[in-house]
Amino acid sequence: MNCLEFRREKLADPRRLSREALTHMGACAACRGFAIEVNENEERIATALDVPVPEGLAERIILRRKTGARFSPRLWALAATVVLTFGFGFQQWKDAGSQEYARLAIEHVMHEPESFTSARLADPELFRRVMHTFGGEMQAPLGKVRYMKLCPVPEGTGWHIVFETENGKLATLILIPAKRMKADSEQARVGGWNAVARPGGQGFYAVITDSPETLGKVDELVRSRVRWRS
Ligand SMILES: [Zn+2]
Ligand SMILES: [Zn+2]
Repeated sequence: MNCLEFRREKLADPRRLSREALTHMGACAACRGFAIEVNENEERIATALDVPVPEGLAERIILRRKTGARFSPRLWALAATVVLTFGFGFQQWKDAGSQEYARLAIEHVMHEPESFTSARLADPELFRRVMHTFGGEMQAPLGKVRYMKLCPVPEGTGWHIVFETENGKLATLILIPAKRMKADSEQARVGGWNAVARPGGQGFYAVITDSPETLGKVDELVRSRVRWRS
């Protein structure tokens, strides 16, 4: 098990780690730190909301809201804030040179092909709130949101969003907290995928598409329809 797999498992079910995950954690100080942060955040959410969060993590609170239990919009906005302010780092990203942000965003997408074929948290209001929490005000919709997931990213936890543009193209938007980009933008092309990363909100965001033409259009769309605070 590698660090990414560990983080994915830890986020999916913080209280029940597999034997492989426990072994990895025993040997990896970075992931032990990650596990402690996740546990502390779970407790913080529970304390702040004064509700038991037996299975943990914000995303499951959001999902639970979908399944009929009563949770207020304030709750999931707060949960998103808590999750988005996780801050741990992979050392290799800290030293990353130019084009690393965009390239790593492409790699993330390539490792999650189900993001294009499944519907998940496809809720425009949740998307608007997540963007707001991250520091982006929607001036107009980007398209039809199809998939939203909290994913382990090198800076901790980021939102992975897939939406369909008005002309039917699929585009991925990844919001990554905490990391400050120095450049105005970075671009990358890997295995037919194209990405641009730009500073925005609590950190930076990346747009990933399957053609350079679509990338140009979606990049422009995001830039014209989202106003980033600060
Ligand atoms: Zn690790
Ligand atoms: Zn993802």
